[in-house]
Amino acid sequence: MSFDLSARLAERRAAHLYRQRPLLESPQGVQVTVDGQQLLAFCSNDYLGLASHPQVAEAMQEGVRRWGVGGGASHLVVGHSTAHHALEDALAEFTGRPRALLMSSGYMANLGAITALVGQGDTVLQDRLNHASLLDAGLLSGARFSRYLHNDPHSLAQRLTRASGNTLVVTDGVFSMDGDLAELPALCRTARSAGAWVMVDDAHGFGCLGDSGGGIVEHFGLGLEEVPVLVGTLGKSFGTAGAFIAGSEELIETLIQFARPYIYTTSQPPALAWATLRSLRLLREESWRREHLRALISRFRAGAGELGLQLMDSPTPIQPLLIGDSERALQLSAGLRRRGILISAIRPPTVPRGTARLRVTLSAAHEQADVDRLLEALQQTLAELPESHQ
Ligand SMILES: *Cc1c(COP(=O)(O)O)cnc(C)c1O
Repeated sequence: MSFDLSARLAERRAAHLYRQRPLLESPQGVQVTVDGQQLLAFCSNDYLGLASHPQVAEAMQEGVRRWGVGGGASHLVVGHSTAHHALEDALAEFTGRPRALLMSSGYMANLGAITALVGQGDTVLQDRLNHASLLDAGLLSGARFSRYLHNDPHSLAQRLTRASGNTLVVTDGVFSMDGDLAELPALCRTARSAGAWVMVDDAHGFGCLGDSGGGIVEHFGLGLEEVPVLVGTLGKSFGTAGAFIAGSEELIETLIQFARPYIYTTSQPPALAWATLRSLRLLREESWRREHLRALISRFRAGAGELGLQLMDSPTPIQPLLIGDSERALQLSAGLRRRGILISAIRPPTVPRGTARLRVTLSAAHEQADVDRLLEALQQTLAELPESHQ
């Protein structure tokens, strides 16, 4: 018997791992309408509240007036417009790298960069908690692929002694499900002393870390020498969509020649690039959003600590509450939802087994009072759940 999909689905349901999509009826924001219910949301990656910013929306409309809607072709054929090009120039300047290449999504950026840089006979070493797109890219590349212990330069060093060919060390900048920062200075030193290149995917760091929102490399002051391959995504703090890879002139030319997810896909709508240019300006110049976020993070951590909740070692807007059991995480999420708060339960395989969590994310669009409401709802919901037997 083949394709017994109903058995697979039933098994997933029984393990409390079944996924459902909340249906969003409002714009993205901290106040959302989901499945007909008004909710205060703490689960988007719109960390700066730019996804529905009027200036960004206006720039998108202007972009549509100037360039129409569709990209119409791949970049190499006739889909590379002045809007895309202007955004690439601005992203290069922002990241302090010679060039940047615009990609249609972060998933594709990671797939493109890794498969263009390493293949058979080469080595790719990744943090074991890296984002799924990086792990998939490592497998697809055909290079020897090994994962080192989370954020552990010693574990990386051991694997480097067994590496052959061109060696790429890949890490999230901010770990997407835990919120902690990669120990980049130490990881970069270890990689460089073995002649390996470092690639950082800073999807969650751009906009939040660094004085001008330049992410983890700005936070640690790391240039092209330390981090030759830098990836950012545009669907999180930037509030739009797409991604970019920043690096040397030669790196970008190599990607244009060899990165299949760049070559064989239609360019993103030019108007979207135009909107991102606007959001980049807001992200860099209006640092009050980062300052406000920091205040919200401190308030949440202090309050959650008082409630005895298990926080993770995170200085970022990603503030997961570790629950452990998937069913309990679902119950907590449902209890919060009855109180008007939306936070999804993140379960395996997105996170390791036994580490289901509520991935609380804060946004500069939240107010202090929103955080207080969340803390109160958490306290009430926890009080009505049966004791945990962990
Ligand atoms: C979200 C995310 C991606 C994927 O980016 P998309 O543009 O949404 O495809 C890649 N890497 C990390 C670490 C992410 O969190």
